Amino acid sequence: MRALVWYGKEDVRCDRDVPDPKIEDPRDAIVKITATAICGSDLHLYDGYMPTMEKGDILGHEPMGEVVEVGSGNKKLKVGDRVVVPFTISCGSCFFCQQELYSLCDTSNRNAEIARKAMGQSPAGLLGYSHMLGGFAGGQAEYLRVPYADVGPLKIENDSLSDEQVLFLSDIFPTGYMAAENGEIVEGDTVAVWGCGPVGQFCIQSAWMLGAGRVIAIDRVPERLHMAEEKGKAEIINFGKIEGGVYDRLMEMTGGRGPDRCIDAVGAEAHGTGSFDAVLDKAKAAVFLATDRAHVLRETIMCCRKGGTVSIPGVYIGMVDKMPMGAAMNKGLTLKMGQTHVPHYHHKLLEKIEAGEIDPSFVVTHSRPLEDGPELYKTFREKEDGCIKVVLKP
Ligand code: NAD
Ligand code: ZN
Repeated sequence: MRALVWYGKEDVRCDRDVPDPKIEDPRDAIVKITATAICGSDLHLYDGYMPTMEKGDILGHEPMGEVVEVGSGNKKLKVGDRVVVPFTISCGSCFFCQQELYSLCDTSNRNAEIARKAMGQSPAGLLGYSHMLGGFAGGQAEYLRVPYADVGPLKIENDSLSDEQVLFLSDIFPTGYMAAENGEIVEGDTVAVWGCGPVGQFCIQSAWMLGAGRVIAIDRVPERLHMAEEKGKAEIINFGKIEGGVYDRLMEMTGGRGPDRCIDAVGAEAHGTGSFDAVLDKAKAAVFLATDRAHVLRETIMCCRKGGTVSIPGVYIGMVDKMPMGAAMNKGLTLKMGQTHVPHYHHKLLEKIEAGEIDPSFVVTHSRPLEDGPELYKTFREKEDGCIKVVLKP
């Protein structure tokens, strides 16, 4: 089959002779992929920041398609089902899955020992996301083996919905929604969202759904800010253009109090604005002394109003230094974060799509054949050609 394969930093290729996946466990299913997206999380692999990637790894964790084979022990799926596959792999029965904390599944990471050394305990295995997180082949391919396929996949029965309308139930729509929930938004709150990439866009949409009174979006890419303004009805701050810093602007906009809820939808690869912490981050990352450039995380903590909440859907990988813990502690902030418990949100968010409350396809700017993947990784990373979200068709 054809698949997008990781060869090293900034080296993704579309290989044509990758072996087709096979059923390995009775609960598995094989899905023929009809649409699969590139995520900001994939850029951490592309840019070489995520450890335990190996040459030959198949990328991709935002896939959907048609079930073509089902293991003998899988009672949920049948051949021909149309499914969206979550990026989190979950067994459905451990302590964590029982509480629907699916991204924390205790069973699904085959390489839990490596993750345990890095993190104390292992989170769930993830599709196409390094050997530390299970070494599972990803879904930027013609076919995908879905482990524990009787738990995660969401059946789409409504044929009038296009792939682009439901595909993001695999990751970024639930991620934006969980980020807004983690923000503990109370009716009328002012919510500031850092990053207007695909995840930021769904944080903005979800903040309104949960009762925000005002949403302020921060980025420096004009078309992303434009989308936040037009589709997200957000007030915007272009951090590349303002006099002074984001902090000053936010204080001005909130009467000196700061936003009630701050969402970091940027994560480990934040761009700096020439501030001291950002320059130091960049230098350390360049010589592999650090993986994470946490400028935005620090900024959310500094800007958040006293007693407010900082929600972190943006991915961090390793150690973060220069964390303003004193500010977080003395201002009484709540910090909430995590990889998304995707299936927990499936039915609620599918209902919103079916009711016409949201059409997630608004983020798609590039819909292309799988073969164009390698070029589009670069286009997406560089934010060239107005690229906001890429969907690939195998
Ligand atoms: P993206 O790279 O397309 O978007 C990031 C955006 O942040 C860009 O538009 C960039 O211009 C902006 N940005 C950079 N520096 C900034 C700064 N200093 N201030 C404000 N904005 C800044 O990625 P995405 O697909 O939107 O994903 C965003 C983050 O969410 C990534 O870290 C990704 O790994 C993470 N993510 C997490 C989960 C989860 O389960 N928690 C799921 C999906 C993605
Ligand atoms: Zn993703």
